[in-house]
Amino acid sequence: MWAAFEPILPWVMPMVVLAAVVSFPMLGRGPSTSRRDPWRGFKYGARAAVLERADGRCEGSLFFAWGRCFAAAVEVDHVFPHSKGGPTVVSNGQALCKDHNRRKRDMTPPWWYVLALEKRRRGYFPADQDVRVYAVMTDKDVAARARRSRRSR
Ligand SMILES: [Zn+2]
Repeated sequence: MWAAFEPILPWVMPMVVLAAVVSFPMLGRGPSTSRRDPWRGFKYGARAAVLERADGRCEGSLFFAWGRCFAAAVEVDHVFPHSKGGPTVVSNGQALCKDHNRRKRDMTPPWWYVLALEKRRRGYFPADQDVRVYAVMTDKDVAARARRSRRSR
């Protein structure tokens, strides 16, 4: 049984390793819990903040990790998916066009996806904004959310 695979092992092993490296997530930025944020969609100021810092343009890449999409942003997407514990906070949001949003689905972004997004952002983010993706709800986020939902009542 094992002998049948032996001739292809020199090719299969590097492919398996490569696939594992390419799909590896970015450590230290993802959610610390798999519990879903009760807030599913970006709303109030959070949605506006994500769209505004991207200047209303899609933050997706043109080709894999290269270039920036030219389309207008119409959706605010969770970089680390909501279904996998990514919170609905500005630091986990990205502005996407319809096409990019549909293609991403609920994929957990690999490390190179996050790095490429942050590299693009250095070119267009306002100077006072952090380009880093951070899928954790901070005390500041909790406070901002409480303020926003009070105001909307
Ligand atoms: Zn796009």
